[in-house]
Amino acid sequence: MTFADSESSKSEPSNEAQKPMESKRLLRFETAEEFRSRPNYCADLEPEKDKPLQIFGGYGFKKGAYVHCGLVGCKQYHGAGFNVVNAIGKETNIGRCCGKTRLGAEWAEMEARFQKQTTLQALQDVLAEAMRKRQETLANARKLSSLVEAAHRTVDTIIAAIASDRPLHKAFLSCQKDRGRLSYFRKLDADERALYPGQSTVRTPMGYIDGINAASVSPKLIRELKFKIIVPLEELEDDSLALLSHKALAAKSLEFGAMGGLLQTAELFIADAEKLSRQKNWENFENFCVASQVNMSANAHRILRGLAGTL
Ligand SMILES: [Zn+2]
Repeated sequence: MTFADSESSKSEPSNEAQKPMESKRLLRFETAEEFRSRPNYCADLEPEKDKPLQIFGGYGFKKGAYVHCGLVGCKQYHGAGFNVVNAIGKETNIGRCCGKTRLGAEWAEMEARFQKQTTLQALQDVLAEAMRKRQETLANARKLSSLVEAAHRTVDTIIAAIASDRPLHKAFLSCQKDRGRLSYFRKLDADERALYPGQSTVRTPMGYIDGINAASVSPKLIRELKFKIIVPLEELEDDSLALLSHKALAAKSLEFGAMGGLLQTAELFIADAEKLSRQKNWENFENFCVASQVNMSANAHRILRGLAGTL
C-alpha cells in the first residue's frame, strides 16, 4: 500500500463505518493480497442487500495479476477496480464495469464522490508538502529578495550610465529590442556588390550583450517577493489549511505554485544581472557601436570602458 494505513488498528467494523469517509485517506492497493487480507474482506458481497456502499480505495493491476470481482454471483477477472465498504464495515473489490452494471446510478454517484475525494486528497498533499517546506521557502525568498535588490542596483547603475549619452542609449535600446543581439548592416564593397547585384548592405553579427533581459525586469519583483511569498508564509498558521473549503484549497494550491515560479524569476534576474555586468559585454558593445557608426563621443567611450572596468 502506498499510503500510510490509517485503519491498521481497526476493530469493530460498525465503528469504522460511522466515521465519515471524507476524513480518511483513500487507499491504493498494490496487490490483491493487501485488500483480501483485511479483516472485513468479503469475497461475495451482495450489492443489492449490503448497502450503502462507499469507495475507500482502488487498484490497477497488470495483465497476469487480474483479480476476481467480489460481487456475489460475479466471478469476472479484471485489472482496474475499486474497494468498497458498506454500512456495517464489510469490504470487497469491484471491477469498474461491474459497478456500473450492477449498481447503475448509485455507482455513478459513488465514483463521482471518490473522484472528488481523490482530487481533494491530491490538493491536500500538495499543500502539506508546501507547509513542510515553508521555512525553507521563506528563507530562500528572503535571501533572493536581498540579492534581487543588489541586482537592481547593478542594473540601474549600468542603465543610468548608458542613458546619460543619447547615441549610446539609442544603440542600447535597439539592441535590447533585438534581445541582446549585436548586429549591424555593413556596406558591401565594390567586389561584393558585383557578386550580389541589387544588394548594398549585409547584416553582420558581432556577438551579443549577455544578460540583457535583466534590463527589462520590473522593480515590482521585489514587492512581489514580499507580498506573494514572504508575508503570506510568515502569516500562515499551521492548522489554517484544515478549515478551508475545496475551492479555497485549490486557490491556495495555485498560490503556492505561483511562489515557485516567482522564486525562479528572481533567480533568473539575479543571474542575468550578473551576466549583464560582465566586462566582455561592454567591450563587445563598444566594438559594435564603432562598427555600426554610432556617433561615439569621447564621453561615450569613457562610459563603456568604465562599465568594462578597463578605464
Ligand atoms: Zn463483477
